[in-house]
Amino acid sequence: MNDLIEQLKACVGPANVLTEGDLSAWEQDWRKRSRGKALAVVRPGSTEQVAAVVRACAAHRTPIVPQGGNTGLVVGGIPDASGKEVVLSLQRMTAVRGIDRENLTMTVEAGCVLQAVQQAADDADLFFPLSLAAEGSCTIGGNLATNAGGTQVLRYGNTRELCLGLEVVTAQGEAWNGLTGLRKDNTGYDLRQLFIGSEGTLGIITAATLKLYPKPAATLTAWAAVPDMQAAVRLLQLAQDRLGSGLTGFEVMGQFALSLAARHMPQLRVPFLDASPYGVLLENSDSESEGHARGQFEALLEAALEDGCATDAVVAENLSQASQLWHVRENIPLAQAQEGLNIKHDISVPISRIPAFCAETDALLAREIAGVRLVNFGHLGDGNLHYNVQAPEGGDMAAFLREQEERVNTLVYDQVHKFGGSISAEHGIGELKVDKLPHYKSPVALSMMRAVKQALDPQGLLNPGRVVPT
Ligand code: FAD
Repeated sequence: MNDLIEQLKACVGPANVLTEGDLSAWEQDWRKRSRGKALAVVRPGSTEQVAAVVRACAAHRTPIVPQGGNTGLVVGGIPDASGKEVVLSLQRMTAVRGIDRENLTMTVEAGCVLQAVQQAADDADLFFPLSLAAEGSCTIGGNLATNAGGTQVLRYGNTRELCLGLEVVTAQGEAWNGLTGLRKDNTGYDLRQLFIGSEGTLGIITAATLKLYPKPAATLTAWAAVPDMQAAVRLLQLAQDRLGSGLTGFEVMGQFALSLAARHMPQLRVPFLDASPYGVLLENSDSESEGHARGQFEALLEAALEDGCATDAVVAENLSQASQLWHVRENIPLAQAQEGLNIKHDISVPISRIPAFCAETDALLAREIAGVRLVNFGHLGDGNLHYNVQAPEGGDMAAFLREQEERVNTLVYDQVHKFGGSISAEHGIGELKVDKLPHYKSPVALSMMRAVKQALDPQGLLNPGRVVPT
């Protein structure tokens, strides 16, 4: 192995091959539930260096785990415990290669932090809509590799919809330049789509050409109190009818999730907390003016109050109030972590079936596991819920996780399957859910996935054990 380490040092420079010291930033997952051991952390600075690293690893049959900001939530971007895998970190590849204003595109390297991508678009007086709570640390390469969602999917789609071209280093160490800015190109298989969402198992994304949009003239935020999930879906329908493509965010939050935010972050002001079982956060982005957006928003909320699908509502007066409302939503995962260990689910169900899914699954869990607490919140506009399960109040949370996690997962995922949903709407499969796929995906789909993996990575060196069940 010393031979490989020396070759890697020759590829990227000795300072960029880390083998000693505290490597926890690369070896431990964001939720601190798993820790691996890397043979080395290698930090190439260019596509050519990535290709050289892959060729060296392939020659030594050494597995590679690509890594961006290491904010993934399914244990997909850290090495296993064997000490035999190389972590290939894209963090040094941060260049914005160019912005084409007329074509509304920008080309960036994979290690660009999402916030820097948003800022570069903003500096050009344009808008890159991907937005998620990890945007200060996650990279665009990681967003593409996980096909990340976030808060603007309703209007702009997942990361997949925001990408026109890719540059990828293959498992054989060849660089494929697919950095096109074309919106139409039907010359055969769309290879880009294979790599997006493949979680580092098919190739290493080194750069991407992304779609940009004109900046909205005004973005307003509102909060509505709603009596139940059915009413939240009804409010979504009303908002879609009245705001059309102006509706850029629609987040639902259950009362218990909100009460955790209020308990652990007392500086947050949670509207209508005691008065309603659910809160809904709405965002309206308008291309005309703030006055136009506000008028539209107020008319919608009046209609909702009349309809009964909202019992109270408030429109943020200014940016500071709007960001306070968003802080409540964004801080729920943190508040939940402060409350203690919990079981996370990142599911989707057709929106029309969400009320029945929640009613049935809430009751099932309450019946099967005494005292269980549900932290239910998420992107209702995309049919995506973080349907999380917290241990009973005052209980031993580590014991709860040990004894109940498998059972809770099976109950929830069986329900998701029954309602025609997906067990992973956003975060991906990684290592955490790889054993679940055979239960919930068809044998035909699994055999096509295995065939693709075998064709592109016949040695099985890219992120082994993740996504594709063996
Ligand atoms: P990493 O964690 O480093 O890697 C993730 C996966 O991608 C791994 O399998 C890794 O091997 C692979 N990978 C990384 N870079 C590359 C590359 N260049 N080429 C090939 N493979 C690569 N996700 C959502 O979808 N929506 C959300 O709203 C959301 N909110 C989040 C909020 C918080 C607080 C946190 C911590 C995470 C959240 N996530 C969310 C999870 C999410 O997957 C990411 O944060 C992000 O997309 C991962 O980017 P990363 O650069 O950190 O990737």
